[in-house]
Parts: sequence; structure tokens; C-alpha cells
Amino acid sequence: MTQFSPQFLDQLSQNIKEWGKALGFQQVGISDTDISAHQKHFETWLENGYHGEMSFLERNQEKRLDPSKLHPGTMRVISVRMDYLPPDASFARDLANKQTAYISRYAQGRDYHKLVRNRLKQLGDKIRAHFEQIEFRPFVDSAPVLEHAIAEKAGLGWTGKHSLTINQEAGSWFFLGELFINLPLPIDKPVEEKCGSCNACITICPTQAIVAPYIVDANRCISYLTIEFDGEIPDELRALMGNRIYGCDDCQLICPWNRYAQLTEETDFYARDGMKGTDLLTLFEWDEATFLAKTQGSPIRRIGYQKWQRNISVALGNADYSSSILKLLQNKLASASELVAIHIQWAIEQQLQKMDKDQIPIRTTQRLVRSINKGIPRDA
Ligand code: SF4
Ligand code: SF4
Repeated sequence: MTQFSPQFLDQLSQNIKEWGKALGFQQVGISDTDISAHQKHFETWLENGYHGEMSFLERNQEKRLDPSKLHPGTMRVISVRMDYLPPDASFARDLANKQTAYISRYAQGRDYHKLVRNRLKQLGDKIRAHFEQIEFRPFVDSAPVLEHAIAEKAGLGWTGKHSLTINQEAGSWFFLGELFINLPLPIDKPVEEKCGSCNACITICPTQAIVAPYIVDANRCISYLTIEFDGEIPDELRALMGNRIYGCDDCQLICPWNRYAQLTEETDFYARDGMKGTDLLTLFEWDEATFLAKTQGSPIRRIGYQKWQRNISVALGNADYSSSILKLLQNKLASASELVAIHIQWAIEQQLQKMDKDQIPIRTTQRLVRSINKGIPRDA
């Protein structure tokens, strides 16, 4: 490759940051490819089984810890962040109303992967327009890339005790993306870690998934359980999940640095109809065709209809008692898959236990619970 002078590379790195901002990224930083400082932490996390069923994380360790092995020739990683917090996020209202669904704020609009990857590609093309010989490859949550470790090295923020990246001026409501490139650009400096003695995210986590500072046990994390996990949600965690049917924002919501968060100007990330404060019953009534139509272009689609129904069943079990909820749960039971039926049965038990004792004698309630435990519909 051509030898570039330090002055030339300095100027180029400034240009890349300006081009990145013009493309809608709020910040652009540059890191080298040595992620080895994170190796021990990551390996111990895996050894403890905190990655749950995400076995793909056990593979490609070498590539994960050295971007030049993932994309040969890579000398630097351009790390970018893009704010996603929509206006009128209504956290408190949506979390407090147990009859409505809470969907993580990053997932209420269009899937971000395509948008961020396209912008990264545009950034790469812009650099290539000046230097034909450069090679680049964009990544957005799609390959063995330790994105938070890279963002930290590139000076975009520090890794908080909840394991996400926090920026002193912008909080943590942003997406990350990476452009691997074969140019020896000057690298940015990491920023000072500023969690200090705060433990708010650890304390607030509904399922106590942050088992120690900087260590999240995915097996207990609602984001993992509602999105990545395919199986039966552990009984002891269901009641703690509340109305969170896709992801969880609590550890970010409580973080004091998010008082500096900026709202996104990307309209693609604004909440779509049905994705914000929608009645759980309405969502549970969707058949598969409706689910696929309503979630077209949304990240929610990738969990599939069965997990969607599983998650809503748990939330319905956590909702206040309602005869309409009970009736719909019972109606859906007969046609539900085995996975969904297990959660519907649990939800029915929760609803029955909350039923006003004036409306139904306690012995009848117990009999109903017993019959449901045996898989017998209430009306049988
Ligand atoms: S996303 Fe929710 S469940 Fe997971 S660590 Fe954060 S607060 Fe806990
Ligand atoms: S809530 Fe406190 S401990 Fe947790 S990430 Fe934010 S500043 Fe750090």
C-alpha cells in the first residue's frame, strides 16, 4: 500500500469524521485492531455460561478478538454511533400500564441494521472515491465483532456496569456500527470510565441479571429471554418480566447519563402503529399473517410468531385480572403450540389467582387451577 504522511492521515481522519456526521452518525471514532485486553473478561463470561444458548458466541474467538483476522488486511476500525431514542418515548406510562405492551425503544421503528450498514457503506464509498486502493467492510451486529469493546477503544464512550456503551454527552440510547478499513489512520483515545460508585442499573434490573458490575447473565436478562431465547421462559422469572414483551430498557432508563441523551432525527426509528403502548389483548389476537404484516421491516419479525405469542402470554399473566384476558387465553389454549400453551397455562393460573374472590368461590378457583394444570380447558 502507498505510504501516507502523518499530516495526510490526520487530515483524512478529520474528513472521515465530518463525512460520517453528514451521513447521520452522531460520532465517529477510530481504533486499532488489538482487542486482546477484553479477552479474559469475555472468556470468563463464556465459561460461566452467561451467554445462555447463544453458542455462536463460543465460535470464532480469534476473529472476535482481532478484526484483522475477520477481514484480512484490516488496520483500523471506524466505529460509529447513531442515536435512536424517538420523541415521546413514554417510558413511565408504558411500563406502568400492565394491560399494555412494553417494547424496547430501539425496536419500535424500522430495523436499524440495514439503515446503519447502508450509511457505513456510503462512508466507505466516500473514502474510496479519494483512494481507489482502499478496502473496507461494514458490520452492524452481524458477525463476530466486539462492538462495545471497539467503541470504547475508539473513544465513543466507556462500557457501563450494564455492559453497554455510555457517552458523557449522549447517554446510551444509540446503535453502534463498524467499518473495517485497510488504512493506517491515527487512532482515538479511550475516554475515562465514569460509572464511579453508581450501581443504579444493577439495583433496578427486574430479574437481577447484572450479577456483578460489567457482567450480565443473559439467562436472566429480559432482552435475551424475549428475543434470543427459543425455549420455555423459567417459571421464576416470568412474574418479574411484567409487560416487557420485546426487550427491556430498565438498566438504560435508570442510568443518570441518559439525562444527556439526544432524540433521534431518523424518522425510521420513530414508533410504528401498534408498537407503542398497545393493548396486550389486541396484540395477542393477531394471527400469524397479521403478525408478519405488522412487523414487516421491524426487528421484531425475526423472533417469529411463536415467541411473540409466548412473550405476550407471560405479559397477560402479569396483567391485572380481566375477564376478557382470561377468556382470550382460554380460547387460544386449544390451538396453541406446545411452547405457547405452557405459557398460556401459566398466565391463566396467574389471572385466576388475581380474580376477585367475591366473584368466584376460592374452592372453584382452586379446581380451575387444577384442571388447567392437567391441560383441561375450563369449560370441560
Ligand atoms: S435489559 Fe433489563 S433485564 Fe437485561 S440487564 Fe438490563 S435491566 Fe436487566
Ligand atoms: S446506571 Fe450507573 S452504574 Fe449503571 S451504567 Fe449508568 S452510571 Fe454506570
